[in-house]
Amino acid sequence: MEDCIFCKIAKGEIATKFILETDHVVVFHDIHPLAPTHILIVPKEHVISVLDIKSTHAELLLGMMVIAQKLIKDYNLEKGYRVMFNGGRYQHVPHLHMHLLGGEEG
Ligand code: 5GP
Ligand code: ZN
Repeated sequence: MEDCIFCKIAKGEIATKFILETDHVVVFHDIHPLAPTHILIVPKEHVISVLDIKSTHAELLLGMMVIAQKLIKDYNLEKGYRVMFNGGRYQHVPHLHMHLLGGEEG
């Protein structure tokens, strides 16, 4: 979608270092991290929010969870992590994305 920042990132139109990329998803560090590790898992398809997820997205969503599992292990977050979707007034980029946060002391 034109003028969508995450569509532009997914298409390589805004230079962003990907942690990993699959046919359906791009993964990169949040520009304003809220935790020592703050990663965004973003579908290439322009789905706006959780409310727009349909049964046809089942494989995509499972794929995002499997990526989160891998990242939790790769970044040693097993002792404390959060996996989060914001929506409504809490969502600032209207393109579905999963936050993975963790790595705080304690
Ligand atoms: P939301 O509030 O929509 O759930 O989260 C959007 C997230 O995207 C925010 O944490 C924000 O820091 C991050 N973000 C916004 N623009 C960019 C960008 O251009 N690059 C990266 N890496 N992260 C971004
Ligand atoms: Zn988009």
